[in-house]
Amino acid sequence: MPFSKLGLAPALLLVLADNNYTRPYPIQQEIIPAILKNKDVLGIAPTGSGKTASYVLPILTQLQHSTAGKNRHINVLVLVPTRELAMQVKEVFHIFNASLPQKVKTLAVFGGVSVNPQMMALHGVNVLIATPGRLLELVEANAVHLSDIHTLVLDEADKMLNLGFKEEMDRIFSLLPKRRQNLLFSATLSQDVNNITQFLLRDPLVF
Ligand code: AMP
Repeated sequence: MPFSKLGLAPALLLVLADNNYTRPYPIQQEIIPAILKNKDVLGIAPTGSGKTASYVLPILTQLQHSTAGKNRHINVLVLVPTRELAMQVKEVFHIFNASLPQKVKTLAVFGGVSVNPQMMALHGVNVLIATPGRLLELVEANAVHLSDIHTLVLDEADKMLNLGFKEEMDRIFSLLPKRRQNLLFSATLSQDVNNITQFLLRDPLVF
């Protein structure tokens, strides 16, 4: 099935072609329509599978229909284990955002660098990509609010748990609105990942 049949915003189709995305990878074919139907998703998928575009493309499509919310109240949170992944995900949002009639402001925040520039940059942000510890620091400083989130993505959930972020993740989950869409990606389905999956996902599409 071509990208044009998946229900994505038409403006994305040209950028897909420009970036040599000729056909959807299997994960994209399965997951994109499910995300557009607001379903929860569990994707057991390593790097290289095309998992990033499988959530970035439908999230950008969904945001084309939404109106601007309150300042510093993000709508989409992508939790990642490392600065490297945060920057990679930001780059994928950046590539596809360029073509859209309604631009989506995306920011990546992570520890190990000064927090002040990140606080300032959060102004008007809609999609936040964050490592758990730095996100909590920003929440505690009232630089960002999580009460209007409609989509939560956990990318490389297994790595986040292996790096010891379980407590921070639980704290973040407790701050999110109850009604939301949850998308969880992990290279492996360990017992720990399975526990989070049971806790977070409602009747997910499993890939
Ligand atoms: P990921 O698994 O998200 O890290 O993506 C792996 C690589 O595949 C990235 O370099 C993407 O740009 C590329 N990619 C993802 N989906 C497609 C596609 N449908 N066609 C061609 N390249 C793709």
